[in-house]
Amino acid sequence: DRLRESRVYLRALFEYTPYDDKATPCQEAGLPFKRGDILQVVSQEDATWWQAKKVGDSNLRAALIPSAQFQERSVLLSLIILCIVCLQAFFPLSLSTASLRRSFRLKKDRQALPGDGHAPEADQTDFLIYEEVTQYLPRPDEKPRLIVLIGSLGARISELKQKVIAENPRRYGLAVPHTTRARRSQEREGVEYHFISKNGEYKDNLYGTSLESIHRVLAHNKVCLVDVQPEALKTLRTAEFQPYVIFVRPRIFDSQRKLFGSSSSLAAGITEDDLMDMQQSAEHMDECYGHWVDYVLLKEDSVSALIELQ
Ligand code: 5GP
Repeated sequence: DRLRESRVYLRALFEYTPYDDKATPCQEAGLPFKRGDILQVVSQEDATWWQAKKVGDSNLRAALIPSAQFQERSVLLSLIILCIVCLQAFFPLSLSTASLRRSFRLKKDRQALPGDGHAPEADQTDFLIYEEVTQYLPRPDEKPRLIVLIGSLGARISELKQKVIAENPRRYGLAVPHTTRARRSQEREGVEYHFISKNGEYKDNLYGTSLESIHRVLAHNKVCLVDVQPEALKTLRTAEFQPYVIFVRPRIFDSQRKLFGSSSSLAAGITEDDLMDMQQSAEHMDECYGHWVDYVLLKEDSVSALIELQ
C-alpha cells in the first residue's frame, strides 16, 4: 500500500554505476547514483530491479536501481569470491586458520591512520545498501535541530564549534561533553569539557556527551552543536534527534603541495607529511562515514569555515 503512494525514499549507502554493472538488464536504463543520494522509489514490484528517481534530479523519468536483496546478494557473492581467492592463495603456504584470521585482522589494523588512533572502524559487518528516510519538513513550531560535527585530521572542529556559539549564544547552545583526559592550560571546566577522573584506568581517555545535556539545549530552543568521534553517529542518528551531520574536511590545494619546501608553507608550519596525513585521514573518514554525512564543509581557513558553518 505504501508503495502505491510512491512515498518511499531511500538514502543510498553505496555508489552505483550501471555501466560497470554486468548484471544490469540494460545499462541505459540504470540510474547512476552516489553514496548519500536520496532516491524516490517508484516501484518495488520486481524483486531484483526497482524503479527510482534521484531527488533533485531534473530528469523526471524513473530508472532502474538494484533492489536491496539483489545488492546484498551481490555483495555476499563478492565476499565469497574474495574468500576463495584468499584461500587459494593461502593453501599452498599451508597456513593454519588461526594465521588466516590474523591476516585479516592485520589488514584491518593497517587501515588505522595517524591521528585517528582512537577512532575505531565503522562496523565492517554491516551491509551498507539503502536506508529508508522521510522528508524533513520543518514546521513553524519545530524545535531547532541537533548539529553533529565530525572532522578529519586538522579540521579543528572543537574550535569552530566554540566560535559559532560565542558569536550567537542565543541561537546556538553547547552540550558539554565529559572527558577523563587532563585539562589543557587554556581550557575551562564546564566550557570545553567537564573533566572527570577515571579510577583504575591508566592511559586511554574516555569522552562522552550525555543525551540529557543535548535535550537541555534543545529545550531552550537553541540549535545544539556537538563535535564527536564519528562512531558516536550510531547513537545520535535517531528519529528523535534527526541530526544534521556536517563533515569538516580541511581543503588541501595542489598549490599547497607545490609550495611545500618554499618559505610560505614552512612558515605555516605544515610539512609534506602533515599534508599527506590530513589527506589520508579525510579519505578514511569519507570512506567509513561519508554515507551518514548531510553536508561537507571544505575548510580553507577558520574565518571562511566559521561563516559557512553559521
Ligand atoms: P580533544 O581531546 O582534542 O578535545 O578531543 C579529541 C576528540 O574527542 C575530538 O575528535 C572530539 O570530536 C572527540 N569528542 C569530544 N567529545 C566527545 C564525545 O562526547 N563523544 C565522542 N564520541 N567523541 C567526543
